Amino acid sequence: MRVYDTIAEFRSSLDEARAAGRRVGLVPTMGFLHEGHASLMRAAAADNDEVAATIFVNPLQFAAGEDLESYPRDLARDLTICESAGVTHLLTPSAAEMYPRPIATTVSVAGVSAPMEGASRPHFFDGVATVVAKLFNICGPCRAYFGEKDYQQLLVVRRMAADLDFPVEVVGCPIVREPDGLAMSSRNVYLGPAERQAATVLSRALEAGSAAIDAGEVDPLAVEAVLSAAIAAEPLAELDYAAVVDPETLDPPERITGPVRLLVAARVGPARLIDNRSASPG
Ligand code: AMP
Repeated sequence: MRVYDTIAEFRSSLDEARAAGRRVGLVPTMGFLHEGHASLMRAAAADNDEVAATIFVNPLQFAAGEDLESYPRDLARDLTICESAGVTHLLTPSAAEMYPRPIATTVSVAGVSAPMEGASRPHFFDGVATVVAKLFNICGPCRAYFGEKDYQQLLVVRRMAADLDFPVEVVGCPIVREPDGLAMSSRNVYLGPAERQAATVLSRALEAGSAAIDAGEVDPLAVEAVLSAAIAAEPLAELDYAAVVDPETLDPPERITGPVRLLVAARVGPARLIDNRSASPG
């Protein structure tokens, strides 16, 4: 595995690889890696000849008062995880390398960015879309792997790549969970023991919502009430949103007659956690 601090060296290595006919898979991350990230890297390694990964905690996607400064970091451990998951080229740029001047150009994806995470964190998806656009341009033609853990982000990135004709195929990968159902997240490290236990309420709420649909519930508001009630039953969790939406457009359906996506966000102690799952009637 080669590790690069500079965009220019990372880019020219990947250009060279492609010129030799090798296909490139890209896995953008913010580091403090876990098995969820490693699963994306292994998927990229299975489908491609080179695996490019990036570790960059992107200031553009954090609002004032969010956890930019305290976001967990452990580069030594990340290097080991990347190496064993098959990464061949790792870019670990500084903020000055990525943003050598105040950025004047912002990528904004209307529609899919608006609800849920977009409503709760208005700055967030412009920050994500802008840094991912930069990373796609830095990497060049590739397949890029994103987790369904951040389901709305996956749709935002996919739409951006399509609308702006990036030579990038966006690949969605399944959520990796802890044995008790908690979706793996770098931010789980913020949880104390009681909060860690309480955090399983997100996946349990989603299971309850899915079970209601299995049992014939077709009213999305009734399913949202099931999600909210499950989270309200956990005293350490504070609900942000619970939503039942179309899996492609993220619009709320009038009735549940086909596949839907269930999404929840809640604060558990110091951590803001998100989770989601698919559900279909009958
Ligand atoms: P992050 O480092 O949190 O920005 O995440 C980098 C990538 O890893 C994103 O595409 C995430 O969706 C993905 N990811 C994070 N956690 C998981 C997980 N538990 N399962 C699958 N993918 C994940």
